[in-house]
Amino acid sequence: MRTLITGGAGFVGSHLCERFLAEGHDVLCVANFITGNPVNVQHLLGNPRFTFVRHNVSNPIELDGAIDNILHFASPASPVDYLRHPIATLKVGSLGTHNMLGLAKAKNARYLLASTSEVYGDPERHPQREDYWGNVNPIGIRGVYDEAKRFAEAMTMAYHREHAINTHIVRIFNTYGPRMRLDDGRVVPNLMGQALRGEPLTIYGDGSQTRSFCFVSDLVDGIYRLLQCDFHEPVNLGNPNEVTIREFADEILALSGSKSTIEFKPLPQDDPKVRKPDITRARTLLGWEPKVDRHEGMRQTLDYFRGKLND
Ligand code: NAD
Ligand code: UDP
Repeated sequence: MRTLITGGAGFVGSHLCERFLAEGHDVLCVANFITGNPVNVQHLLGNPRFTFVRHNVSNPIELDGAIDNILHFASPASPVDYLRHPIATLKVGSLGTHNMLGLAKAKNARYLLASTSEVYGDPERHPQREDYWGNVNPIGIRGVYDEAKRFAEAMTMAYHREHAINTHIVRIFNTYGPRMRLDDGRVVPNLMGQALRGEPLTIYGDGSQTRSFCFVSDLVDGIYRLLQCDFHEPVNLGNPNEVTIREFADEILALSGSKSTIEFKPLPQDDPKVRKPDITRARTLLGWEPKVDRHEGMRQTLDYFRGKLND
């Protein structure tokens, strides 16, 4: 098996590269470094079954030889990152997705798209099930990411329907763990970094908004299972254990032993008020269930960030 992973030098992508190598695949990692970090895959470079190609997948690419699987994970993923790179985000979700689907067609490869809970926008249904169409502001600041992913889903279904490509769509809910960038702006690295440095923890709004955090190893396991099955509609993967951001900040303070204070800042535009996956489909279809308890995952992530701060 030869598996192409776009965005493989990013947070989730680097864990996927490791998992597919461990399963015996040859892994071709294609990424630029717009948000990822070459250090994430440095330890894999000596492996003869691992190849790294630096390329912007919004531009076409020709690759020799057979490719059995394509996992399209390239995209800025943090709100701060996609607000900094709005056009690149729209391009990689649209042109990048089209290029990778074209490659899947040429190579007769299985295809898996990394979509997101952001396709539900600021949801009016709770928890979110895959048959909910969402509440997205197309011209708001988050629209560049949400609409790019919604387009990517539509394009993926079109390639499945018109060209019978064996496609898969995973809607990923907030995932965290080692190899997140300390400065990517998402709530986990922000608050953990602040706690470890003894700085005030920045809560946007009053902290009553909720998220449901999934540890990266659970997500990777679900993705691996999804790729093997012949189901083509979107599947939510995430941990349904919901928490308010205020509670989450308190947990970080307790687990890190930090004496940091809390500082409230304005809530960004269109910030979803609630988010929690309904994972009935993943449970039924994949026999999948997240296993890592949030506090255990948070401890591992805090250890990773502690190491980075001491580097
Ligand atoms: P990340 O920023 O750590 O990784 C993204 C990777 O894609 C980086 O290596 C980046 O340089 C690369 N990339 C971006 N644009 C590219 C382009 N045009 N060409 C080549 N490479 C490009 O983010 P992540 O958290 O690992 O997210 C990975 C994927 O999972 C994204 O598609 C994201 O939308 C999706 N996702 C992640 C989460 C999460 O909670 N982590 C939630 C929902 C969806
Ligand atoms: N957030 C926060 N403080 C921060 C960063 C984020 O309170 O320093 C909030 C943010 O407003 C959102 C939630 O935490 O309500 C999750 O934000 P994140 O950027 O991780 O991703 P999102 O789930 O919004 O895509």
